[in-house]
Formats: sequence, structure tokens, C-alpha cells
Amino acid sequence: MNKIKHVVIVGFGGMGQQHRRLIEVIDRIKVLGTYDINDKQMKIGESHGLESFESLESVLEDDRVDIIVIATPNHEHKTIAIKALKAGKHVVCEKPVTLNSLELGEILQVQKNSGVEFFVHQNRRWDEDYLIVKDIFDKRTIGDVFHIESKVHGSRGIPGDWRKEKAYGGGMMLDWGVHLIDRLLVLLNEPVQSLYCKLAFNRTQEVDDGFSLHLTFKSGITALVEVGTYNYIQMPLWYVLGSQGALSIKDWELNGELKHFNNKEEQDAKPIVAGAGLTKTMAPRDESTLLTSCVPRVKVDYKGFYNNVYETIEGHEDQLVKNEEVMRTMKLMEAAMKSSATNKVIEFPI
Ligand code: NAD
Repeated sequence: MNKIKHVVIVGFGGMGQQHRRLIEVIDRIKVLGTYDINDKQMKIGESHGLESFESLESVLEDDRVDIIVIATPNHEHKTIAIKALKAGKHVVCEKPVTLNSLELGEILQVQKNSGVEFFVHQNRRWDEDYLIVKDIFDKRTIGDVFHIESKVHGSRGIPGDWRKEKAYGGGMMLDWGVHLIDRLLVLLNEPVQSLYCKLAFNRTQEVDDGFSLHLTFKSGITALVEVGTYNYIQMPLWYVLGSQGALSIKDWELNGELKHFNNKEEQDAKPIVAGAGLTKTMAPRDESTLLTSCVPRVKVDYKGFYNNVYETIEGHEDQLVKNEEVMRTMKLMEAAMKSSATNKVIEFPI
């Protein structure tokens, strides 16, 4: 019979507590306790019946512990991951996995012959908005996709914690960029040919409070990835153009629309008065040539990540979030930051 795996969550702030909720619904994984440098945070764990550990070392020495979940600020991920792997514990690490690709390389080097697994929590691959886009892309519902825009826009700046500081791995490229880029690369599954990026420092100096990243893929598909934190008007989360239609997903409630060309020929467009001029090219389309529907919902298995952690450890499955994919995203973010710093297009391979 498969053995229950026991977890200790290191760093029991916002996301550490979310891991407790995520694991709670998995039958074969159990959270044993927490370790946090702040006792107050461990008291929250105690209120859920979790043990408090007095140090990281005491967690690593405990034979009951199979898996360490790392949910500390980003700059601590590498050191804790390496210690845990060396102690023979499987590791689930929050994103961004590390501050750069070199640090990730160090972790993977240690993991290589350790006999234990290293997982990165790229949980936004399980977001329904992304899975809808993936379904439409894979099934060619709107024909051949030629342009994708993936954006998240907030309006309150960067939260007033470590995310504002470079030494902690702050900034929006590392915070949200890592999710959007990871998903796009997995979705398209083809080489990037070139990119151009501009980091924004609208009200910050140390770290970016947003960015705009243009990518061209080998097949010619283009993409715009954008993160903003001073957007009082939000742009759609997704805007996808295909040869036979288009998709817009406006928000996390999944409002939006899918338009599909129904092969009905349109009468030649009549010019319209637009502003101070006339236009035929930009005249609205005859709606009878399009089928319009709501965003088509898909089923999401929110247990997918942790079930895969369990099955991988048991040797029944391969990792769904592969470490080489995580490395590719880290390298792409580095190229994006270089593009921004030099104001130049980066051509691949680099
Ligand atoms: P947070 O500030 O709320 O919590 C971090 C906790 O780590 C704090 O309680 C702090 O006391 C503790 N800590 C700091 N250094 C420690 C150490 N050396 N050992 C043990 N505990 C330590 O931050 P957060 O929002 O929970 O973010 C934590 C991590 O989770 C970050 O890497 C962040 O990028 C990631 N995150 C991921 C998602 C996601 O959806 N995947 C969402 C939010 C945050």
C-alpha cells in the first residue's frame, strides 16, 4: 500500500498557509508542521493542529518528514532547497524558484544524484483562464493562432513587503512574469526567436513594478506579456487572435467572448466616418458573419499539482512541471531583463 507522505511547510505566511489548504484535500499527503522564523506565524499553524519546529535543522533531522514545502521570500529558496535535498527530503519550492538561472543550476546539480525529487509550484498552469486558452489553441477552435496577449493588471502598486526589495528577489518580472512566461512557453512548446522587453519603474526605483515583453516564436506566432500595477483600467487577461476567430477573457470571473468566423461571405464593407476621417478597413464587421459565444469553460483539477507530486515520488508519473521548463523560463526572464537594460532586441539562441 502507498505510504502517506508527511510535509513540513517552511515559511508560513500567505502562501505557506495556502499550501496547507491545497494539501488538506489530498488524501495521501499530510501536513505535519511548520517552521517559520516568526513565531507568530507558527501559532497560526498550531491553531490548525500543526506542530511548530524550532529550527530548519530540526525539520531536516526528523525522520517522519518526507517533503519540505518552501514558501519563504524568494532569496531564501536556494539555500533551504539545497539543505533539504542534501538531507534526503523531497522539495516543493515556490516560484520564482530562485533569483536567477545559476542558482537553479546549483539546486539541480545537488538534486541530480540525491534520490529525491525537486518540484516547482508553477500552480498557475492550473488556472481555468489559461486552460481555456490552451484548449482553444490545441483544438484549433479559432484556426491557427497567430497572436497571443497575456496580461495581469493591478492598481495598487507592489504590496508593501519584501516584494519591493531587490535583495529579496522582488519585482514584478520575478513575481508575476514567471507565471505568465511559464504558461506561454508550455502552451506554444516551440523555440523563441526573439524578444524585446521594457521593465517599468513607474513608482519604484529598486525593482520593476511592471513590464511589457514582446516575443516572436519560431513559427512566426507573436505574443505580448504584460504585468502592470498602476492600471486603473484593466486590459483583458487574454486576447488571442486566430485565422478563424478571436478570444478575449476579460477577468478572473471569466467574462469575455469567443468569436468564430462562420464562413459566410461579407458584403464589401461600407466606409464609415471615423473621427476626422473615413475608413473602410476599420469599419465594424457584419455580425452575421461571426458566431459569438461566451468564454467556453473547462474542467479544472486543482488537486493536479500535489497528486502529481505524490505519484512522481512513488515512481508512477513524470513531473508535470519539469525542471528543464522552469530553467527555460528563468533564462527567458534574464534575457528579458537584459533587453530592457540595453534597450535591444535579443535574438535566440543566446
Ligand atoms: P509572506 O511574506 O506572506 O510569507 C513568507 C513567510 O516566510 C513569513 O511568514 C516569514 O516570516 C517566513 N520566513 C522568512 N524567512 C524565513 C526563513 N529563512 N525560514 C523560515 N521562514 C522564513 O510571503 P508569501 O506571499 O507567502 O510568499 C512566499 C513565497 O510564495 C514567495 O516565493 C512568493 O513568490 C510565493 N508566492 C507564490 C504564489 C503562487 O500563487 N504560486 C502566490 C504568492 C506567493
